[in-house]
Amino acid sequence: MKIVMLGAPGAGKGTQAKMIAAKYQVPHISSGDIFRTNIKNGTELGKKAKEYMDQGLLVPDELTVDLVIDRVSWDDCKNGYILDGFPRTIPQAEALDAALKKAGSGLDFAINVDVPDENIVTRMSGRRACTGCGATYHIVYNPSKTGDVCEVCGDKLILRDDDKPETVQKRLSVYHDQTQPLIEYYDGQNILKTVDGTQDMNDVFAAIVTILEA
Ligand code: ADP
Ligand code: ADP
Ligand code: ZN
Repeated sequence: MKIVMLGAPGAGKGTQAKMIAAKYQVPHISSGDIFRTNIKNGTELGKKAKEYMDQGLLVPDELTVDLVIDRVSWDDCKNGYILDGFPRTIPQAEALDAALKKAGSGLDFAINVDVPDENIVTRMSGRRACTGCGATYHIVYNPSKTGDVCEVCGDKLILRDDDKPETVQKRLSVYHDQTQPLIEYYDGQNILKTVDGTQDMNDVFAAIVTILEA
């Protein structure tokens, strides 16, 4: 099962990707998490990526494509994976298609978690991310049971710099310009499935499971 998650920043892609990965026992691969780990570890890639991320811009395809295509070639991906946050541009999608084709396979589903822009700012300003393990919470919709530390690892929860309202607006416009065209791209391949992402997260998940098991 090879799945790509589509949707605006804050639509709930990561939340759903983690639930799918747990249910079907396939890895959840988030390009944003890979960049944040690089930033935390002070790598050259992390330094370069941070310049773009802090401005709400996409990291250039040259720094992104090989990284993710290498990751999906790992052994743990042989039964499938959930890609979250990649592809984000048409060239990224084309590079992924080409790599999969070369390996004699292809994507099964592109799941578009549909949430209007009006809801996005509330989603993002309430998101809290764990600095240790990358788990995400929401102060209203999914609060940590252990307050301002992570339920999983106990590390501190923060509001990501790029989740502050001024950067969120930029990320939304970048999404509409560069990422939204992927909806049509995957519709053209007949693998697009859209779910209403404004529902409660468990209802969104139930809708996705229905699609995957149809
Ligand atoms: P969100 O989950 O809120 O959509 P991500 O964690 O996926 O955010 O991404 C955070 C930032 O990392 C993006 O705003 C972008 O700068 C960078 N990034 C992540 N994935 C990609 C990608 N596939 N291409 C380019 N930039 C990316
Ligand atoms: P993305 O990966 O698309 O950027 P996340 O999964 O990180 O989005 O979700 C963004 C924020 O919204 C998080 O704080 C998350 O807890 C919250 N969230 C996710 N899905 C829902 C939902 N269906 N209803 C309300 N809040 C949600
Ligand atoms: Zn944690």
